[in-house]
Amino acid sequence: MNEEENWLHGKQIECPNCHQWLYRVDHSPFYDEYFWYCNRCPIHVEISYYDPVVRQVEQQVRQASEARQGEWFVTFVRALEERLKPCRCGGSFRRDAPRRCFTCHAPVISDITISVDLYPGWMNYDSEPDASSEVQAEHWTAQFTRTKDIWQDVHL
Ligand SMILES: [Zn+2]
Ligand SMILES: [Zn+2]
Repeated sequence: MNEEENWLHGKQIECPNCHQWLYRVDHSPFYDEYFWYCNRCPIHVEISYYDPVVRQVEQQVRQASEARQGEWFVTFVRALEERLKPCRCGGSFRRDAPRRCFTCHAPVISDITISVDLYPGWMNYDSEPDASSEVQAEHWTAQFTRTKDIWQDVHL
């Protein structure tokens, strides 16, 4: 892959603790989801931009912070974080939580100044997927991502 194709800065990195290979990549602007990460374990939650709860919170926050343009996003993030169910480990999902190793759970990327996602090293999309890597990917997804039943009880 040349630099131009690699515009999301995908790169193999090594866990500093257990030396497992991992793959970091900027969060694609073409995704319609936020990926927010547990503050204690490697699980992340995927939150659709079109989720009714997201829409509702966004509208409330925009109205409330009309006087302070530009600050609404910070308030929005905090409000959404509070609505999410805790992770099954007991941690909370946060936009800027460290990205953690899937094997040893050590924080691998702690400076979340831009939105970055972390995957296992074998999931780097440089190689053509075969049947066994698809099964492996499904297994990983089931273990480390949450896409359903993500909200605390809400009354819309
Ligand atoms: Zn590790
Ligand atoms: Zn967790």
